[in-house]
Amino acid sequence: MRVANRGLRPSGIRLIHDRALELERIGRRIVHLEIGRPYFDSPGVAKDAAVAALRAGQVHYTPSRGLPELRERIASRHGRRVEEVVVTAGGSEAVVAAVLAVLQPGEQAIVLTPAWPHYQGHVRLAGGTPVFVPCRCEDGFQPDPDQVAAAITSRTRMLIVSSPSNPSGAVIEPARLAALARLCVEHDLIALSDEIYAGFLYGAARHRSIAAEPHMTERTVIVDSCSKTWSMTGWRVGWALAARPLADALNVVHQHLGVCAPAFAQAGAIAALDAGAGHACAMLAACAERRDALLAGLGDLDGVRLRPPQGAFYAFPRIEAPGGADGCELAARLLEEAGVATVPGAVFGEPFAAHIRLSYAVSGAELAGGLERMRALLG
Ligand code: PMP
Repeated sequence: MRVANRGLRPSGIRLIHDRALELERIGRRIVHLEIGRPYFDSPGVAKDAAVAALRAGQVHYTPSRGLPELRERIASRHGRRVEEVVVTAGGSEAVVAAVLAVLQPGEQAIVLTPAWPHYQGHVRLAGGTPVFVPCRCEDGFQPDPDQVAAAITSRTRMLIVSSPSNPSGAVIEPARLAALARLCVEHDLIALSDEIYAGFLYGAARHRSIAAEPHMTERTVIVDSCSKTWSMTGWRVGWALAARPLADALNVVHQHLGVCAPAFAQAGAIAALDAGAGHACAMLAACAERRDALLAGLGDLDGVRLRPPQGAFYAFPRIEAPGGADGCELAARLLEEAGVATVPGAVFGEPFAAHIRLSYAVSGAELAGGLERMRALLG
């Protein structure tokens, strides 16, 4: 059968996950460090509110921009106006809607790598071209504004930034963020600022949005979501924040993509936002503990170069594996021989083939077991 080729590749993260599930079906015990989801339950108040909404008959479409009560809470969380909020089916839909709203076919979006692979997929869906600018491990995965400037052409329309980053955990330094913002203003670019890990920061790391830089509010789309902050990945509630003309254009795309986010999930999201930081704080404390355990467990291994992540819940070590295996071979060996599922670095950008990504938002016992198995294979 003939199917369209939009330059999309199957998700490298799902490939590993599916193989891990296959091994579990034949009786192997697998430690899952591949999937980017907190292992914690969603807040009980969110569940109660969603169930109550279902029972009360909230089973129909909502306004495409989302339930007004939810939009109000999102607006006040970000210090923005309600009209600037579009509630979407997860942050993923907010990203794709933003890209489709901004990019014309043939235009370019700069993607700072290592990066969540969906950005490039979304750019390709829009008929655009992703232009990759690597952030070097030696520089703590910080973007180099000069390199970004060198990548800008007359066809560049967007700059996609993600801070804290999946997979590197890097938080963009204030001076570099300001320099990126100046490039956006100078070259008339729209910034897509993916802030879905902004609730996961460690040590002295602080979150600053590129939207807060001079003249950037009107040219930035902020993407955020309930998925990670409240451990609600299956609920599919996220949002985009953008100044009025941009928010309107994004909402039209969103109407065509998914109409609206699920009604009862939005009701649950209201309760999660109202619950405030309590649930999120407990998760953050657990993630901080796991991060320390991971640094202690892998940091001293020969051939492992691990930049301490400043945010999110991923580690992205560069590993000189026994026998010179690259990240793909290493991830395959870790899964098949040691029963630890990780993601090969190449999934996040070609220059990162020697890396693997580990998600440490797992239980303490799970992480300890995974580290022990990794040490046995690598040590
Ligand atoms: N952005 C980044 C960087 C992510 O890692 C993810 C999920 N892994 C998303 C956006 C989308 O998350 P969701 O659609 O569940 O909100």
